[in-house]
Amino acid sequence: MNSNDQGGWTERIPWVLTDYPSIIAIDGPAASGKSTLAERLARRLDFLYFDTGVMYRAVTWLALDQGISVDDERAVTRLSQKAQIDVQPPSRKDGRVYDVLVDGEDITWEIRRPEVDANVSVVSAFRGVREAMTTQQRRIGQRGQVVMVGRDIGTVVLPDADLKIYLDASVEERAHRRWKERLALGEDASFEAILEAMRRRDQIDSTRDVAPLRPAEDAVIIESDTLSIEKVLEATLDLVRSKSQ
Ligand code: C5P
Repeated sequence: MNSNDQGGWTERIPWVLTDYPSIIAIDGPAASGKSTLAERLARRLDFLYFDTGVMYRAVTWLALDQGISVDDERAVTRLSQKAQIDVQPPSRKDGRVYDVLVDGEDITWEIRRPEVDANVSVVSAFRGVREAMTTQQRRIGQRGQVVMVGRDIGTVVLPDADLKIYLDASVEERAHRRWKERLALGEDASFEAILEAMRRRDQIDSTRDVAPLRPAEDAVIIESDTLSIEKVLEATLDLVRSKSQ
């Protein structure tokens, strides 16, 4: 039992006062809600929130920006080894949760563009790209007090994580969420196009040779189709609590 049990979970409590699991891995397909969950969970625990998808997105954006074909494995791999990708606290109040910088340039919103969505799974399937990204992610993760999000965190990046969550939802529900997000941003989005792109990304991510998307054997699988983010967060906090000494 820790001191937090009497106080409930609404307060942000410094990790040093507790025995929370120190490394929390959250994996799942696109738009399953894992980033929102991880960000809120990290805020509650006063942990670092790290979304590894931004790294693959940053490499993809760089390749597109420099006119390098995303099918050119050697060139894209070289790019991923040289690129200086930084994730920092938000410098602006424009809805961002963090700044993403590549070689000093702010690309926080650029990496969310449809052309990055459409090409990122090709880039992230390259072995050399994954090696470069995984090395950096492990360095950050192994410091502890982290909620790390991605596709292969529980299986490959941090297989010794204290708690592993696999957040899932049907592809229709996920496409619907993404479609609503795009409409809310004032974009002219087609549900069918988003659904198709998401199916394609799921297919590439889960069938690639290196670190495919799948739940770790010891992951807790949460199906979020009919659950609000608050319910998913509560369920996750229960798991954190059950792992606490
Ligand atoms: O999570 P997000 O949609 O931002 O991830 C973008 C893409 O990056 C995924 O579709 C996947 O191809 C790749 N990715 C990955 N491994 C991770 C995180 C993301 O392959 N750990």
